[in-house]
Amino acid sequence: MERFDVAVIGAGFGGLACALELASRGAHVALFEQLRYPGGCASTFTRFGHRFESGATLFSGFGEGMLFDRWIREHRLDVRVEILDPVIELRAPGLSLDVPPDRERFLASLEALPGAPIERIRAFFDEQRRVADTLWELFDDPSLLPPLGPRALGRHAARLPRYLPLMRLVGRPLAAMLRRHGLQDFAPLRVWLDAVCQITVQAGVDEVEAPFALGAMDYAFRGTGHVVGGIGSLAWALARRVVELGGVLRTSDEVRALAPEGAGWKLSARRGEVYADRVAANLTPHALRRVLGRSTATLDALASEVERGWGAAMRYLVLDPAKVDRPSAFHLELVGDEKSPFIEGNHLFVSVSDAAEDRGRGMRTATVSTHVPMRTLRDSSDPASYLDAIRTRSTATLKARAPEIAAAIVRDLTASPRTFQRFTGRDFGYVGGIPRRAGLANYRRLGPTAVLPGLYLVGDSVFPGQSTLATALGGLRVAEVIAPMRARALLSAGAEAAE
Ligand SMILES: Cc1cc2nc3c(=O)[nH]c(=O)nc-3n(C[C@H](O)[C@H](O)[C@H](O)COP(=O)(O)OP(=O)(O)OC[C@H]3O[C@@H](n4cnc5c(N)ncnc54)[C@H](O)[C@@H]3O)c2cc1C
Repeated sequence: MERFDVAVIGAGFGGLACALELASRGAHVALFEQLRYPGGCASTFTRFGHRFESGATLFSGFGEGMLFDRWIREHRLDVRVEILDPVIELRAPGLSLDVPPDRERFLASLEALPGAPIERIRAFFDEQRRVADTLWELFDDPSLLPPLGPRALGRHAARLPRYLPLMRLVGRPLAAMLRRHGLQDFAPLRVWLDAVCQITVQAGVDEVEAPFALGAMDYAFRGTGHVVGGIGSLAWALARRVVELGGVLRTSDEVRALAPEGAGWKLSARRGEVYADRVAANLTPHALRRVLGRSTATLDALASEVERGWGAAMRYLVLDPAKVDRPSAFHLELVGDEKSPFIEGNHLFVSVSDAAEDRGRGMRTATVSTHVPMRTLRDSSDPASYLDAIRTRSTATLKARAPEIAAAIVRDLTASPRTFQRFTGRDFGYVGGIPRRAGLANYRRLGPTAVLPGLYLVGDSVFPGQSTLATALGGLRVAEVIAPMRARALLSAGAEAAE
């Protein structure tokens, strides 16, 4: 049986980050991926000769010194990123709002809207920026997140004044802060906030935990861009780099069982068994329970948090390029009715490919997603009709808000949350991480999650989760925990050999 220091199950961005960091530190890593290609929810696949983004389409973290930018430079990855302007165009009844990559310009467009309470908007965004700056700095330096050593505690003590504005928001919904600033009735801001919070921290304004929401509001302003050729090119570049660093990449190789063996783990995969001292499972808690053939208290707790979240209902469109007038890639956020929840086809995220990129057969493609409550789908007595109704509503939203896209469709491939589950192994097509609904429970599990000795969970169901960037940071943090364990094991093996 082949032996590895670490086995990573799943080459989503959580697994890729963990494998890359460990391989960079000299560990012998095996990276298993059940599909033919890496990236998971953030991958690029080909169907009928056309290339599509599978789920995630818009990525922050490419700003100078941020994680993806650092990777591209340090590992000399052959990946090109375009910062889009606007990053997103939000369309709702009576509202069309461009979200540029620059927050000052965004504020100027909000303030230019009829009836905009300019001073209150400024005060709200001043407070937001202080919180977001503090949070994004923390995420740029994972050593400042739990578990905290004495050095990190010292650095936190020096930052205490910057944490104060954050502390009074902890455990409260964003809606409370909007009310405090007298902005609860300024509809355009509310629509934008509902939209941005739903796609990032997975809950709307009334429910979402304020600090998470305030950090997520900067999503478009922190090195956010389009990966030329699709996000799959970044996923492949990372996977190949793991191999260059001595790792082994096993695509089309599903891990079917995982069992303790000696001081480590035995993995039974489609193409044979391997042994690893440590395992990082880039799986949902549900999927890890299946592979382990048992559960643990941590997995049960996480699984029930996941089930309070969302699945993704997808549409992959082939578009007639002659009918799409913008040449660059672009993203539309469409709202059918701003008074109904931003889910189930009433809210769509539509990402259209770049005209200059070879998407096969000279066509352009679009990825369209909407949120589906997992429990509603799970408990539905007639899931087919429920999903049909969501599709009908998506079509209505698309036609009402983006008629030019609806008119350009030459092929329309629908993927229900169950189809998404079949491809990614994510139950109910789980989208985007555990919803950050207001409450102190959000701060309960901030450290890397050990499920059993030597077995760690990575991915968007563990903190910080939520986006491709946040998931990658989580993967790095698990590598930070595993790497010293490995160093200690090597030292003691060396000492034993010397005796
Ligand atoms: C529809 C949708 C839209 C999104 N939009 C955005 C966006 O625009 N921007 C953004 O930043 N984030 C977005 N997200 C969120 C982001 O994509 C995810 O949070 C993140 O990519 C999840 O990464 P992960 O590593 O947790 O898991 P995954 O991406 O699910 O990766 C897990 C991998 O493990 C593999 N696997 C599963 N089981 C096994 C097994 N037994 N053996 C071997 N391999 C296995 C899977 O095939 C998969 O490749 C979106 C998510 C979805 C679903």
